[in-house]
Amino acid sequence: MNYHADFEQLLAEIAQLKGQNIPPTAKEAAQETIIDQLTAMVQSSRQQIDELIASNLELARLSYTDGLTALYNHRFMMERCHAEFNRAKRYNSGLSCVLIDIDNFKLLNDAHGHPFGDFVLRKLGALLKKTARSSDICGRYGGEEFIILIPLPLKQAMDFAHRLHTIIAEHLFSDGQNSARITVSIGLADYRCDMQNWSELISRADQVLYIAKNSGRNLVRVWTGRNIEPEEIIDNGSVNQLKKQFTDIYQQAKSSYVESANALLNAIDAKDHYTFRHSQNVARYATVLARALGLRKQEIEIVRNAALLHDLGKIGIDERLLVKKGSLSRAEYEIMKKHPVIAVNIIKNISLLAREIPLILHHHERYDGLGYPHGLKANGIPLGAKILAIADAFDAMTTSRRFRAKMTRSQALRQIAAEKGHQFDPQLVEVFLLCMTSPPKEDALEEPPSILSPAEPGLQLGAGL
Ligand code: GH3
Ligand code: MG
Ligand code: MG
Repeated sequence: MNYHADFEQLLAEIAQLKGQNIPPTAKEAAQETIIDQLTAMVQSSRQQIDELIASNLELARLSYTDGLTALYNHRFMMERCHAEFNRAKRYNSGLSCVLIDIDNFKLLNDAHGHPFGDFVLRKLGALLKKTARSSDICGRYGGEEFIILIPLPLKQAMDFAHRLHTIIAEHLFSDGQNSARITVSIGLADYRCDMQNWSELISRADQVLYIAKNSGRNLVRVWTGRNIEPEEIIDNGSVNQLKKQFTDIYQQAKSSYVESANALLNAIDAKDHYTFRHSQNVARYATVLARALGLRKQEIEIVRNAALLHDLGKIGIDERLLVKKGSLSRAEYEIMKKHPVIAVNIIKNISLLAREIPLILHHHERYDGLGYPHGLKANGIPLGAKILAIADAFDAMTTSRRFRAKMTRSQALRQIAAEKGHQFDPQLVEVFLLCMTSPPKEDALEEPPSILSPAEPGLQLGAGL
């Protein structure tokens, strides 16, 4: 509607009335009608202006709000950091920056699904806001990282960071279907007059957050100017000794769980004569491959544990299916395909096994993306899961099954080579073929064969498992 033209038209009509030769009462009535129309127009345009103002405000709010957590977004936090930095510099007042990164959040997504991950991010955002004071400025820095600007000196910010760390660790995140606890790593830095500009404040917090991650996660680290190297914080004899004792106990607890879960699995396998010792065999092949790839000792251990547990989910599958003679129907196969997810559900709350979970979950993914449960592709599949896939297939091929005779080693290796780039990662197939055609002696397994160093050009293992 063209308000301006309509308005002008009504005014012209009133003017015309004056010159018209009609009875005064009719003139008055006509005037009143026009005035009513004018009033209605004014009211309606007022309403529209109010709506416009409200919608502009909403737009402005959206431009500085993070859609998922409703905290301030990255852009706004950077602007505020700049402004707060200038204020601290001008008045020489306190300013601290807290960076918070959720530990192993990828695993939480893997184990419970992305929507639950989103739920945790929203809840954590609310928890930060609730724990902070109204003068603190809370925002989402990105992904699973948060930032809080505190207009106070370091000492008070440290108290806050430690309190926050405990509150988060004690909180149970539950949406009714899933529940999980998380830990966070926190980096903290404060404004110092030697800083060149505001981004240095965030960069110092980030440096110590990195140190917290490298020192084992679930830690608060404070920028002191001396702690550029992580060792400086923890490097003293008794702390290191304690750390070693702790690691030993941790390893013992972990292997005793893996061993007993594996015994359980063997009990199932025993019903199915053909798959007996399958997990141990897979663990053996996977370990050989992991060593040949030059993985670190702890990573090889994770691959081995995951191999021992990879079929744990079969515990949840009807025994009649597991021992069925002949091939499975389509519906039965769909049920069987649930075993990686069932395994993850069994062990998802055992934090000792957190790093094994993605390997177990994804050991049936295929390099070409046609596998399950998530249809991950190529480098989207965790390296450890790709190792398990080859080891699993190789053992399945070289042992007899109810519905087919076993292949010879060389037939199986040919089959694996044929699946290069389809079912299996081509680079891993190369290394596996090398290992299997010149296998290390059983008793020499302690020493990693140096078939390939991790720095071998062209072998992109990606970060971690
Ligand atoms: P670290 O302890 O080293 O921080 O490990 P991490 O797994 O937490 O960190 P990494 O940076 O490897 O992975 C971050 C993960 O956060 C990967 C990504 O899928 C997840 N993530 C990022 N943004 C979102 C989001 O909006 N929703 C969900 N559900 N997940 C997210
Ligand atoms: Mg991160
Ligand atoms: Mg993280």
